[in-house]
Amino acid sequence: MINLVDLRRQFQSVKKEILQEMNDVIESGQYIMGPKVMELEMKIAKRLGVSEAIAVANGTDALVLTLEAYGIGKGDEVITTPFTFFASAEAISRVGAVPVFADVDPITFNINPNEIERKITPATKAIIPVHIFGQPADMDDINEIAKKYELKVIEDACQAFGASFKDQPVGSLGDVACFSFFPTKNLGTMGDGGIITTCDSALATTIRKLRTHGTTKKYFHDRIGYNSRLDELHAAILLVNLTKIDDWNSKRRVLAERYRKYLNHVTHLKMPVEGKYRTHIYHLFCIESEQREEIMNALINAQIQTGVYYPRCLHLQDVYSFLQYKKGDFPVAEYLSERLFAIPMHPFLTEGEQDKIISILRQDGGR
Ligand SMILES: *Cc1c(COP(=O)(O)O)cnc(C)c1O
Repeated sequence: MINLVDLRRQFQSVKKEILQEMNDVIESGQYIMGPKVMELEMKIAKRLGVSEAIAVANGTDALVLTLEAYGIGKGDEVITTPFTFFASAEAISRVGAVPVFADVDPITFNINPNEIERKITPATKAIIPVHIFGQPADMDDINEIAKKYELKVIEDACQAFGASFKDQPVGSLGDVACFSFFPTKNLGTMGDGGIITTCDSALATTIRKLRTHGTTKKYFHDRIGYNSRLDELHAAILLVNLTKIDDWNSKRRVLAERYRKYLNHVTHLKMPVEGKYRTHIYHLFCIESEQREEIMNALINAQIQTGVYYPRCLHLQDVYSFLQYKKGDFPVAEYLSERLFAIPMHPFLTEGEQDKIISILRQDGGR
């Protein structure tokens, strides 16, 4: 079976270094909020050129703590994309605010700035662009709208560590950004993890407080918080993976180019397109086709794993029926949810495996 991602191969490639790092942690006796977490925060902040990085338990918490730290809650609205993983909107609901969706761009699959502006009301407090599949959103236009209406821009960068817009890394493009270290993300650990990056030190102070039970000083609390820390062992693993991420991302880009080279002319397939000014890191490689079912079946029969990201837009999820959206409200997102499918993409995919995938797709396209 050729898998969409191959975490076994990934961790095998760094096993020695990770075991050494984990051994250090085991020997240290410090398992929560120790030196590895501090080192990871420092290194990620430095890499992104921001002053603050706060490691948390997962990417969803990163969004929730950020929204709460901004004081966003009941009566507030936050604009985001209907074409993303559920957590982007769930975090908004979690703090008591209302997710307001704006349709996406058909080329980059990212939230369309023109659609955002039409959704702004006096209750709007923030915009959450999601750098979907590893491709940055149109951050210039989004930041401009945010400035005009005094809104916060919270990047959901959970799928895009290492991607950039106009040579600026995602995670440094808005007011604050949220990353996930879930194992299948392009920068992941062997469990859950996340990090928030920002240049707003007041915001960072509030988030640090929320992360550990609203603590100002041990056993003194001035607000209700969370227990949302990154474990020392995960920080240790991530410190190793962080040294590999540029290599891994460039391998993804090489594989993406190769897919395009051999599949661009297959009439029934539309390859992903890189928008202007963007460096896409291909967390996922999603192809568009009118014959999705048929093609996916051919791949599965050839022992090639596929996946649909995402089969149901967020405005059409049962849990959001109370928001009273209907089919047709976001035609681009709906169109994509009916046609996109992912094919294997990870730094350890071999050319031989890729050739096999390509040959199946070419046969199908030529039928
Ligand atoms: C994975 C993901 C999240 C949530 O991250 P977790 O670490 O799984 O909580 C949020 N938004 C997007 C776009 C994601 O892909």
